[in-house]
Amino acid sequence: MTAAADYPLTLDLHGRRAVVVGGGPVAARRARGLLDAGADVHVVAPWACEDLAAAAAAGQVRWHQREYVAGDLLEPESAWLVHTATGDPVTDSQVAREAEAARIWCVRADDAAASSAWTPAVARGREGTAAEGLTVAVNAGGDPRRATAVRDAVLAALDSGTLPVRRHRVPGANAAPSRPGRVALVGGGPGADDLITVRGRALLAAADVVVTDRLGPRGLLDTLASDVEVVDVGKTPGNHPTSQQRINEILVHHASQGRNVVRLKGGDPFVLGRGGEEALHCAEHGIPVEVVPGVTSAVSVPAAAGIPVTHRGITASFVVASAHEGADHVLSAAADAAPDATLVLLMGVTRLAETAEALIAAGRPATTPVALVERGWTPEQRTTVSTLEHAAADAARAGVRAPAVVVVGDVVSVRSRLGDLAGE
Ligand code: SAH
Repeated sequence: MTAAADYPLTLDLHGRRAVVVGGGPVAARRARGLLDAGADVHVVAPWACEDLAAAAAAGQVRWHQREYVAGDLLEPESAWLVHTATGDPVTDSQVAREAEAARIWCVRADDAAASSAWTPAVARGREGTAAEGLTVAVNAGGDPRRATAVRDAVLAALDSGTLPVRRHRVPGANAAPSRPGRVALVGGGPGADDLITVRGRALLAAADVVVTDRLGPRGLLDTLASDVEVVDVGKTPGNHPTSQQRINEILVHHASQGRNVVRLKGGDPFVLGRGGEEALHCAEHGIPVEVVPGVTSAVSVPAAAGIPVTHRGITASFVVASAHEGADHVLSAAADAAPDATLVLLMGVTRLAETAEALIAAGRPATTPVALVERGWTPEQRTTVSTLEHAAADAARAGVRAPAVVVVGDVVSVRSRLGDLAGE
């Protein structure tokens, strides 16, 4: 062995003869890898373990049921590659010697240092995920367990979407018409970058176009490659730069150009987020669309302030309603609920006075605790605790602004014992 570097290479073994000497589990794994590569696999071994015998019985490999003999690598035709894993150093050496003489690459299971070739630990991007088509091969200089550990870490990173796996060149793209694009409606969670789901994160890492809102994990936008197109359709209250119709059109436009589009939304796409309309619009235009649920602010923002939306002994139900449509809408939502149900109001800041008044008029005690949780899961999270009768005045005094979740109910009192729970 010299200190020279090794030389990683990827082989096309399809239809080419490859020989495995040995019949144990290691040989079986080698044969399986060769089969996956489409090789013409020949096994030489007097006995075979269950897996190998099954592959032979199924006609996947040719099993020569005997000891290895000189010439096996060359007759009836020369092999391109040989794996020897007999467990017997004498046989493995003989195979390696004959392979060397015939200029056939030989992988020895018993002695990596005496091999002319090594198999790396391999991670492949899972089919149907953003990482599909990727192969990562790890070689740890004769320490297979180390290589496997790195391989597993790569696999975990591929699944988590933290690697830049986006395709830049689609094989055959010039010849074939471009594949249709897709739209994924991804719930980004309430704002912290790590409260998106693993699936959402992976789709984001593979997106060509990201259509984003004002809410949600905007910090993740900084992780996108510079050639990813970011379309910001963020709405601020009273200022709607992009109409819903226009957003729908943007999604369909990009996807129909063959691009992978992620519609990154705050919270959950189907909770007061108009995600349903976006999905319908895509479906109506023949664009494949999928949804990735998210952590809704309706539950997670109260939690960040130490308020469980249900709590044993206080209430076993909660109602989520938009306050944007006005007090009547909130009242009818509350009327159908249990009298002790927690009310969680989204978009509730602008019409807080009107809503609180209507709830009192409808019979909720004026002293019912209210919490206003602004910018949950961000460093600027702030909670104002009040009661139904004083909520509007207290909010005005504190300068409470959207986005905020309004919680009405006795569960608010739990906060006094827990404080903020959002962690770092
Ligand atoms: N689909 C989203 C809700 C969109 S409606 C979800 O499931 O969370 C927008 C409203 O959500 C805001 O007006 C506010 O009431 C609430 N909201 C979203 N993110 C928030 C956050 N980080 N802090 C406080 N309120 C938030």
